[in-house]
Amino acid sequence: MKKESKKIEKEKDASAEIRSAPILADEDERRLFYVALTRAKESVTITYAREDAERRETLPSAFIDEIKSELVEQLSTEKSEEKFKEDRGFQFQSTSPQPSPYQGEGENQNKAFVQELFDKQGLSPTALNNYLECPWKYFYQNLIRIPSAPTIHQAYGIAVHASLQDLFSILKKEDKGKSFLLDSFEGHLNRQFVSERDRASLLEKGKKSLGGWYDTYSDSWNINVLTEMRINGISLSLDTGLRRYDTGEINDVRLTGVLDKVEFIEDNIVNVVDYKTGKPKTRNDVMGNTKSSNGNYYRQLVFYKLLLTHFNDGAYSMQSGTIDFIEPDEKENYHKETFEISDEEVSELTTTIQRVADEITTLAFWDKTCDEKDCEFCGLRKLMRVSSR
Ligand code: SF4
Repeated sequence: MKKESKKIEKEKDASAEIRSAPILADEDERRLFYVALTRAKESVTITYAREDAERRETLPSAFIDEIKSELVEQLSTEKSEEKFKEDRGFQFQSTSPQPSPYQGEGENQNKAFVQELFDKQGLSPTALNNYLECPWKYFYQNLIRIPSAPTIHQAYGIAVHASLQDLFSILKKEDKGKSFLLDSFEGHLNRQFVSERDRASLLEKGKKSLGGWYDTYSDSWNINVLTEMRINGISLSLDTGLRRYDTGEINDVRLTGVLDKVEFIEDNIVNVVDYKTGKPKTRNDVMGNTKSSNGNYYRQLVFYKLLLTHFNDGAYSMQSGTIDFIEPDEKENYHKETFEISDEEVSELTTTIQRVADEITTLAFWDKTCDEKDCEFCGLRKLMRVSSR
């Protein structure tokens, strides 16, 4: 199949440089294309096929023509494929009759690549929950981190979290009232890539929810807090450790996390708050004690306790964790659930982390699939023709 490619030059802000295009029915697709371009750190290579599988001629996407010509460098097919081969960090499968890369040298390369990525990315509560839900979801979303545009729910969550961070950052100095929170939310929402129609409905929903949330809690909240506390990596030594396949060296596991809000109760004793923008859940749902729940929220709180235990020589002692639902229930009531996490639960989580880290770094999940139909991650797996052992 013949291909052509266009390269956008280094360090240009593609978002600002795409010619303004009329709002058409394909606005959502244009948004996705636009978001994909802005993920690039240095340059973007766009390729398209000039013929389809039946050798019928195809046309490039109209979006490509909307990019300013002075930003584009046209590459020959041969040159771009050569570059692609050089840049490729991970080989999923060589074509038969060559041996599968899972075996022999290819297997070692894959393990080395995954171990390197795992060391670099560390393991966050979301990554762990994703792995427990499906290793391939973790593989694509958290390990390889394939770029994807935020869904409108994620865009909404980002704007809500950012406005609450603004609110608690300023409350220590002065209380600017409910309008500050709502204006901040609107400002953050305006920075999200959502269609105008979605923006209007998210704005209405957010203002209503955050406004009610403010009225419910503003008389009693704790303003002695840290917001968006980022823990970039604590080293967790495991009983058996992770043995590198190549050197035999024992590695620790690097744990990471961002805590929405840390409330000081007394001296260094804290309550950790995690905001949720979905529908409120019952206490049993949060804990994973009902049929329909997976316990992700509760596991997240246990993970935070584990993180804080090892962070900064134990500078913060986590007494409890709270899941704070920003959306009200059908009766317009707001809910928070607070839990005291036991040392035993932290120790159980450590065991789970050990198992998961071992499975990831030895590629033990490689052959796992399930019967989910139309699942995007196994779809990707097939596309990349991951081979079985
Ligand atoms: S179909 Fe594949 S990616 Fe989807 S849940 Fe099952 S194993 Fe995971």
